[in-house]
Amino acid sequence: MDLSTLTIAEARRALDAKEYSALDLTDAYLDAIKKKDGDIHAYLEVWEDSARAEAKKADEMIARAESQPLTGIPLAVKDNILIEGRIASSASKMLENYRASYDATVISKLKAQGAVFLGRTNMDEFALGGSTENSAFGPSKNPHDTSRVPGGTSGGSAAAVAAGMALGALGSDTGGSIRQPSAFCGVVGLKPTYGAVSRFGLMAAASSLDQIGAIGKTVADAQMIFEAIRGYDQNDSTSINPQRSDLGNHKGRTLGTLGVPRAFLKEGIEPDMLAQFEETLEQLKSAGYSIVDIELPSLEYALAVYYIINPAEVSTNLARYDGIRYGLSMPADTIGDVYAKSRSAGFGAETRRRILVGTFVLSSGYADAYYRKARAVRQLIREDFARVFADIDAVVLPTSPIPPWKFGDKADPIAMYAADIFTVPVNLAGVPAMSVPSGTIERDGKKLPVGFQIIGGWGNEEGLFKVAEDVEKFDTARRGRP
Ligand code: GLN
Repeated sequence: MDLSTLTIAEARRALDAKEYSALDLTDAYLDAIKKKDGDIHAYLEVWEDSARAEAKKADEMIARAESQPLTGIPLAVKDNILIEGRIASSASKMLENYRASYDATVISKLKAQGAVFLGRTNMDEFALGGSTENSAFGPSKNPHDTSRVPGGTSGGSAAAVAAGMALGALGSDTGGSIRQPSAFCGVVGLKPTYGAVSRFGLMAAASSLDQIGAIGKTVADAQMIFEAIRGYDQNDSTSINPQRSDLGNHKGRTLGTLGVPRAFLKEGIEPDMLAQFEETLEQLKSAGYSIVDIELPSLEYALAVYYIINPAEVSTNLARYDGIRYGLSMPADTIGDVYAKSRSAGFGAETRRRILVGTFVLSSGYADAYYRKARAVRQLIREDFARVFADIDAVVLPTSPIPPWKFGDKADPIAMYAADIFTVPVNLAGVPAMSVPSGTIERDGKKLPVGFQIIGGWGNEEGLFKVAEDVEKFDTARRGRP
């Protein structure tokens, strides 16, 4: 088996046809990790023994003809998703030795299917960043050019899938952290509708924005993972209850009209990235889609709004890491000193920056000027999206305005934030979106992947998959893959 091209769908067929066992498949991945991860550093920890045990169980399920879509499929899990008994550190010194006491709902669902967990993947600390450079344990590298970042924050998960070190992966996306690393590494990433996948057992960064999602080599693979983890969960109060919601309004609708927010594409995007995007639009047009210009005036404020709401929620959520209840604890004479010493030693620079900004925008006297204002504008963004989805079926945008950068090139935090311009509006609105590989550009003689982003109406993942599969077809033809 060639792990660099193998898909979940192909592995499923081969496992059920007994062409190889789940144990063979898992061993092949563990071998690939041994060979390649010294260079890439996608994993913070690999679970050889338990992965093999899970694979053996999967083989028994297959022998009993009880296999489900992900039975025996080796997956990687982002380090902020809890697996009972396993360390989950959010790539932070604060939680370096923290062991989860329960399974996240997505993990329980995958365990029930007999999936195999290869290990936990690197990320930016507490899912804050865009490159994995904020990991307390060193960055991951982009498999297409190891002098460049894999994107973030789910950079380890995307790099593992791209380098053939996992068949698929779980990530989390608060402002682009599944889509952007997927674009940078040339794989498919899905950020589901807010509430479509349970957040129970996901370490909270910004709770009103966070969502667990899927990374795979193909649209079909991302869909298979999504189908396995989606669903109502009473342990997550923001989970979509199918009985009470209007989920299904869009369901199954075919997507014919795609909207391009032209005014939003004017600044900051590198010319060859824009050219790739336009080329994909042309191909969609010749495949029968109608492409229309749309106006989403509030998008202009999305980045500013995001970088108020995200720090506000992060500062609140990270207050629990106080050196008393969880994680790193530094002894000191007074309780105040325990807090200060533990939080100074446990959190990296970007995490501290968000906590400071968040505390500021929530403080009395400033909350009206910043936090409440940002919430009001967020509502306008939601309404803008709802308005355009009355006439069109999906909004399309590049996933990132720039290609993966070289390590250290975005040392200025504001420069890194600016690269999130096309992904953060989606989380503010709570709608689903996908990044699909679509052509390449060249830097320093190396071909780097480009991502095409498709944003759907609330609850319309099914529609996204259809457009995404068309984009995937063009990309496959362009790259001359089988
Ligand atoms: N880059 C964004 C941030 O740093 C998004 C992070 C994410 O989606 N987790 O907030």
